[in-house]
Amino acid sequence: MSALRSVRMCTVVALRYYAPMPEPYEFDGADIAELLIQIGRLAYAESGEAGLTPTQWMALRYFARANRFSRTVSAFADYHATTRGTVSQTVKTLTERGYLSRRRSESDGRSVRLDLTEKGRDAIAADPLSRLIGLIDALPSDAQQSLAIEISGIASGLSQALDRPAFGPCRRCRFLTNDEQSAHGSAQASCRYLNEPLDAEDLARLCVNYVAASALESRPS
Ligand code: SF4
Repeated sequence: MSALRSVRMCTVVALRYYAPMPEPYEFDGADIAELLIQIGRLAYAESGEAGLTPTQWMALRYFARANRFSRTVSAFADYHATTRGTVSQTVKTLTERGYLSRRRSESDGRSVRLDLTEKGRDAIAADPLSRLIGLIDALPSDAQQSLAIEISGIASGLSQALDRPAFGPCRRCRFLTNDEQSAHGSAQASCRYLNEPLDAEDLARLCVNYVAASALESRPS
């Protein structure tokens, strides 16, 4: 081996083994915001086998997860951060195709509540979002909880800044009242805001009137 080649090899070995390691990259706010949008974009692109558009999937997921007070066109428009007119056609199409059914409100007889039909429930059981859910489920439990706390804090902050409903479940809502304080019986949780009893299913569903337990003071009037 020539002297020059030997020197080159020594230099390569020295660089490979003794060059300082780069500092670990620290993500900043812009990086993380872009990642969240990227996840949303990729999830939004999943169309599944039902032949639904991304907006139709979003509507079907919303009506599958919303509580009985929030399964209306206007609440879905708030959730989708758009106008009632924009989402009306999506809801109409899903109803005509048999994924949603319409029911007059029992309380006021005027507003219309939308429920998933059996066909809608079958579609949701094959939701293409399950790929994303599976990746999140694969995270360690403490990482899932930390992620949920941080993301829900960001979502609350953004909805307050934009003066839009935050949406969340009763079990984390400021208006959830425990049994003793409820006027609906000792074995019944209830909503202080709507003065309605809540069952176990309600507690886990999304609500348009939700206010995070620590944010009541900033609720828009
Ligand atoms: S307790 Fe909160 S989330 Fe539940 S129904 Fe009442 S306002 Fe909605």
